[in-house]
Amino acid sequence: MLRVAVVGAGPAGIYAADELTATGDLAAAVDVIDRLPTPFGLLRYGVAPDHLKMKSLVTTLQRVLDRPQVHFVGGVQVGRDVTVPELRSAYDAVIYSFGAAVDRQLAIPGEQLAGSASSTSFVAWYSGHPDYAGAWTRLDASSVVVVGAGNVAVDVTRVLLKPADDLRTTDIPPAALAVLAASAVRDVHVLVRRGPAQAKWTTKELRELGDLAGVEVLVDPADLVLDAASAATVAAEPLVARNVEVLRGWSHRPVTGAPRRLHLHFWTRPVELVGVTGVEAVRVTSTRPGATAAGNGALVSELPAQLVLRAVGYLGVPVPDVPFDEEHGTIPTDAGRIRRDGVPSPGEYACGWIGRGPVGVLGTNKHDARTAVAAVRADAPGLQARPVPQGAALRELLATRGVPFVDLDGWAAIDAAEVALGVGRDSARIKIDTLPGLWAAAVPPR
Ligand code: NAP
Repeated sequence: MLRVAVVGAGPAGIYAADELTATGDLAAAVDVIDRLPTPFGLLRYGVAPDHLKMKSLVTTLQRVLDRPQVHFVGGVQVGRDVTVPELRSAYDAVIYSFGAAVDRQLAIPGEQLAGSASSTSFVAWYSGHPDYAGAWTRLDASSVVVVGAGNVAVDVTRVLLKPADDLRTTDIPPAALAVLAASAVRDVHVLVRRGPAQAKWTTKELRELGDLAGVEVLVDPADLVLDAASAATVAAEPLVARNVEVLRGWSHRPVTGAPRRLHLHFWTRPVELVGVTGVEAVRVTSTRPGATAAGNGALVSELPAQLVLRAVGYLGVPVPDVPFDEEHGTIPTDAGRIRRDGVPSPGEYACGWIGRGPVGVLGTNKHDARTAVAAVRADAPGLQARPVPQGAALRELLATRGVPFVDLDGWAAIDAAEVALGVGRDSARIKIDTLPGLWAAAVPPR
């Protein structure tokens, strides 16, 4: 029996567990460990509550957790409750798939002012992540600046502008729903430091912004006049062509005076957040000409804003005793194997955002997990030559330390409690958004 620990129960980790156990040709017992008492990582705490179709992937991932060879160990933090050397001696192989937990900074003056925040915290809060319960108690900014042109920027923009009532039947926690319902937000300015052909969002997500009730999208047609490099990108990449087509459609829409407005500013980047104690405005500069983000230094304007959300990408967080590439915020890997001191280290693998960086859609993790597990399979004979304790080594260690954990039954109890909460709001579930609440809903392991 090959004993494998997967650290991180998000899509990448569960896909790895799937790869290890799907075919039955590898006799593997897999513990999927997560620091939270709940599985599914960013699928649960990153995918927006109104993206129900994407969230339905949970059903597929749950089937993997339900396999007898797979065991969920929730509420256990590697590096705090159990060390990496302990994991290495309890398992033949360890696969790290714990994602990228923090946001990149803008590194501009004023970023520390009140009212300057990461989209990570906003997304985690409205997604009911227990570390962010109560992080936002009111949204009293009438004008918000969102920096970035990826799908995270699109998500936070949509949630800020969407009528809260349209989120009522999702899994959003009641406290977040109440804050959004009382929101003062009227204008959202999205700052894109390059042009429409370089934006990273995908068309389906972008299009949703144009379909929000009571929201008008304002795009300057001059921003959609393409330079030669952008025209070549549009000609070569159908996704980019579709994005530009969507934007062109919006730029021709008559102004209606809708109660909420989305302003898209291309070739614009923030240079300073201005305010005394809190953000009052964002000083921006044009980045034209050329398709670089270097900026030409010409001050364009000051946008009034009381809230600035940066959505400029994520970074991984190091775990003690695991190699870490500070520059990219990832664990360095070579075809799935972790590189220690520059050489692949059989027995240690990484997949998902912590391995490849915070890019790609959910399905990209499947490919990644396959690569890591292919390396595990290739290394298996050598790994099994080293004796590791068979049986419940990790559980015994946790018991010795008095560290509680949530197993599959515990998670099933949380799941049932959330589904029951949803009944009163006509939702499939309502998330429990505090750690005490989640632990109270879980039944202890038998
Ligand atoms: P992303 O796609 O990498 O986008 C980051 C954006 O921030 C880019 O537009 C980038 O511009 C900009 N940026 C970076 N540094 C900046 C700076 N200093 N100033 C101004 N702008 C800056 O990252 P993400 O939006 O965080 O998304 C991460 C991944 O999750 C992506 O693969 C995304 O598709 C995926 N995701 C998908 C969904 C969905 O499918 N609905 C939802 C959320 C996330 P440059 O291009 O100029 O660098």
